Amino acid sequence: MANMLTRSRAFPCLFLLVAISLASVSLVAQDTPTEKEAARDVLKKMSALEQSLDVPALVTRLTGPNAARDQVVARAKELMDKELITLADDIATHPEIGFEEKRSVSKLTDYLRQHNFSVETGTASLSTAFVAKFKGNNGSPVLGIILEYDALRGAKGAFHGDQHSAQGPVGMAAAIAMAEYLTRTKSPGSIVVYGTPGEEMMPPNAKTVMHEAHAFDGADIIVRSHASSQTSRPAHGFGSCCLNIVGAKYTFSGAPTHQMTPWMGRNAVEAVVQLFNNVDASRISIRPEARIQGVILEGGTAPNVVPDRAVADFYIRYPDEVYLQQVVEFVDNAAKAAALSTGTKVKIDHYGKDLDGIGLATLAEVGFQYMKNFGATGVNPEPGKPQGYEETGSVSRDIPGVGFSAQSSTWSNHTYEMDADNLKEIGHQGFTVDAEAMTAVLFDFATHADYRETVKKEFDGIKALFGEYQTALKKTYTVPNVPDPK
Ligand SMILES: [Zn+2]
Repeated sequence: MANMLTRSRAFPCLFLLVAISLASVSLVAQDTPTEKEAARDVLKKMSALEQSLDVPALVTRLTGPNAARDQVVARAKELMDKELITLADDIATHPEIGFEEKRSVSKLTDYLRQHNFSVETGTASLSTAFVAKFKGNNGSPVLGIILEYDALRGAKGAFHGDQHSAQGPVGMAAAIAMAEYLTRTKSPGSIVVYGTPGEEMMPPNAKTVMHEAHAFDGADIIVRSHASSQTSRPAHGFGSCCLNIVGAKYTFSGAPTHQMTPWMGRNAVEAVVQLFNNVDASRISIRPEARIQGVILEGGTAPNVVPDRAVADFYIRYPDEVYLQQVVEFVDNAAKAAALSTGTKVKIDHYGKDLDGIGLATLAEVGFQYMKNFGATGVNPEPGKPQGYEETGSVSRDIPGVGFSAQSSTWSNHTYEMDADNLKEIGHQGFTVDAEAMTAVLFDFATHADYRETVKKEFDGIKALFGEYQTALKKTYTVPNVPDPK
């Protein structure tokens, strides 16, 4: 139960069901007045950058008639129709939770091997992670495709209520169609498929761990699909669905003794109670947009023994990562103070974080047009909040990319209804549109050097502005000077 509380993680996919429509999309990444003020100049520059790129003209040019592209897209659809929808159904009906996706990984990697990919599993010491490279790879550009496959943990057991079951098949259809195209036309380019486990889990953040192990190095673009109850795309810029987050675990050790002689021991669960009280006391000195919530994972075993071990687990959230550091310090200090006041000791573990990612209009708008062209349903015409193509923010800050979210359910994410839609027409249709749009964008990226340059220009521009924005925030969030008492 306690373990479930800490590991249950409803938010990484939440962004896909929340599409915010605002007249000024360039502002939606900034949640607080402070952030808006700090971002004012940056947003002006970003707007100028976007205008110079003329994304609407780019979309019209790329998504117009192109027989060679249509042939590759048709091949991806054929793979979906003939084999990969069946494989998606199979994974959907054999759900495995994060870091235990052995059967799913073996199905996916078997299929990749059959299509001339070499597979290395256990990437970054994660047993259900893998990297698969097409054996005919031929230099750059390197096209990267992220596959996910973990199921949700529910009261009735694992279930694919977020439809990660289809992400492997969708990504493989695009990867194989493009690999065959590059080989057939002897075109330069490489295909690398990344199997990333446990999207719903922290710790560890699998993508961050893999990124730190250099698994994604060398990719010129990374794509990924995800289930959604509407066809949508994010606005350009930097941001995240659910605030920037630090996961922090506080483990207290005390000394056991009989309940009748508690002064002979040190009570670790009292330290945890004190931690919660201290956090509540500090809220008055923390900006109101913070979200700090903890659960107690361990709190002793018997009332007649003073507990010598207790563990609390917190998600600490703030709209930007700069002020988030101050909030984390408050919570850490609350834990240290709790230990001091109870004579216990505390170990602090910042075990994971999800931060803002970077989203690009040059990729998202082209992908969105393709999804519409290929028959996507439930189209939301307004761009959503800016965000990266993966939930940790770590990869999308370093490598340009885009996510594809064609409507694949009539229900919201993380529901039994969305799980049921895995096997229905609406699911199959959405997954096929994702595969087709992903293939089309990869085709354009591989075959148009000028497109690659435009994407890079937007990515480099937004990344530099992201740095400027953080510098502005650092100047804003000063810490008050507290003198020594006289
Ligand atoms: Zn998800």
